[in-house]
Amino acid sequence: MQIADQKVITLDYTLKNEEGTLIDSSEGQGDFVYLHGARNIVPGLENALAGKVAGDEVSVAVSPEEGYGARENDLLQTVPKDMFEEDAEINVGMQFHAQSPEGEMMIVTVIELDGDDVIVDGNHPLAGVSLNFDVKVIDIRDASAEELEHGHAHGPDGEHHDH
Ligand code: ZN
Repeated sequence: MQIADQKVITLDYTLKNEEGTLIDSSEGQGDFVYLHGARNIVPGLENALAGKVAGDEVSVAVSPEEGYGARENDLLQTVPKDMFEEDAEINVGMQFHAQSPEGEMMIVTVIELDGDDVIVDGNHPLAGVSLNFDVKVIDIRDASAEELEHGHAHGPDGEHHDH
């Protein structure tokens, strides 16, 4: 069986940035499972995995454009401190859920404190980063009707969740 749309894929992976610094790995977290063709993973990796079979090992270099996108300066925002909960201690590096002007949920990171202003960055933490994946294909199976309907893979025991 080959990796294709509507298949559920199990992977081991290691993700490093351009400098070779480890960003993320499936090691110690259990296998990573995703539904192929549903944009569960970044486009550059998904495209590179199409047609692979169980046991294949692939190294994939993904540009920011095919990864988490380029950094956008207009996602930097200055917000007054009193927008945050009173008494909340705000530090550089903290992350908050926020709503974009289009109403999408996004995660913003505090990058600077300037008096009564807080400067937050709505870029994905990996925006603008070239991604180097080392991937091993562990398993490929057909997705269930429920998984296709949800647009993501469920656990090995068909774990269900409400959404
Ligand atoms: Zn589901």
